[in-house]
Amino acid sequence: MVCKIPEPGMKLMEYQGKDLFRRVGIPTPSGVFATTAAGVKDYIAGHPGSWVIKSQVMMGGRGKAGGIKFADDAAQGETLARELIGKVLKSIQNPDGEEVKSLLVEEKVDIASEAYVSITIDRAAKKPVVLVTAQGGMDVEEVAEHNPEAIAKYWIDPAAGYAPFIGRRLAFAAKLPEGYRKAFPALLGALYTLFMEYGANLVEINPLVLTRDGRVIASDAKVDLDDNGLYKHPDIAEWNKQSPADEDQAAAVAIGLGMSNYAKFDGTVGIIANGAGLGMGTMDAIRSAGGEAANFLDIGGGAQAALVKKSYNLVTSDPKVRAMFINIFGGITRGDQVAKGIVEAVAGDDVRKVPLVVRLTGTNAEEGRAILAEAGFVPVETMDEGAARAVALAQGAA
Ligand code: GDP
Ligand code: MN
Repeated sequence: MVCKIPEPGMKLMEYQGKDLFRRVGIPTPSGVFATTAAGVKDYIAGHPGSWVIKSQVMMGGRGKAGGIKFADDAAQGETLARELIGKVLKSIQNPDGEEVKSLLVEEKVDIASEAYVSITIDRAAKKPVVLVTAQGGMDVEEVAEHNPEAIAKYWIDPAAGYAPFIGRRLAFAAKLPEGYRKAFPALLGALYTLFMEYGANLVEINPLVLTRDGRVIASDAKVDLDDNGLYKHPDIAEWNKQSPADEDQAAAVAIGLGMSNYAKFDGTVGIIANGAGLGMGTMDAIRSAGGEAANFLDIGGGAQAALVKKSYNLVTSDPKVRAMFINIFGGITRGDQVAKGIVEAVAGDDVRKVPLVVRLTGTNAEEGRAILAEAGFVPVETMDEGAARAVALAQGAA
């Protein structure tokens, strides 16, 4: 039997590394983490401009592997995101490849210069060593091989700690362009703080970008933490435990809901309900009707049209979904309003159409059902009836 021995240490994805950068005050581009093409589209639509769409994988060399793309509008962003999510990126170092499951959408900056800076532990010297070169953007190993004198090094005495003269000396020795000089000593100090405070084996910024408008920004982030230091930061220790589920959490947060409002399963019926209890009941009803839920989204109280639309898009972005059951317990929420919200949400060409069964209860439920029927949906009165119709539609039998 072949056992896979896990490597020691906790390697962070770029978006996680940048989270730590921001905590210590290292400038990063503005942006958002996304797990769906719809999330990318919505973000760019709300923030017009030029954006970089970056595959979040552990392997390096994403640029060369086709994992970094540029988008100038929401539609282009959506198309590129669709291409990237699910794609397997390969490189020489990683011939098996790694599947892209999430993306980082970031402000595209105009690059004047790309530098490199890292801190690692030099085991022999028993000290952290800082490496800086003006030849960033490429593999530092290549620079080390072909142009070793271009790399400036400094061993920091942990007892004395960091002082700004170290950054000034390194910037000069590495021949960093003038534009870096002012920001670099404080930035390196912050990187050293991160390295010590979070117990890192490696922190690397490649490229550390100088923009045409004079900003110094960490355009990429590579952070490898020592397991032994994680007890100090339980929130980060959680990051690598969450992996499969955290995509669902991120998807729910991306549309403005709580982390635990969305969950995926193996079936073919998508479910939207208001309230976790009603959602559980709906899943049971689907099972009793001989089907299986593909997912469940709890939209909470007050079904706003905009949120219904985002929820609909999230649930139908799961390709397993063949039919959908929206189960809204109205109470004082007016059924005709909810129905109008649903019709509005699902109108338009920018949504994936699947057979839709809707159960409405509460005030004006009857009027609501009339609106839905007119729009071509299947309004039902009871949960069991709705579940039966949704299962039949998902199985292509109705
Ligand atoms: P890596 O290939 O996995 O190391 O990913 P990086 O984040 O380092 O990006 C690779 C390359 O993409 C960079 O060296 C840049 O040349 C380019 N790139 C990334 N972000 C930007 C940006 O905001 N503007 C421009 N012009 N290029 C970018
Ligand atoms: Mn890089």
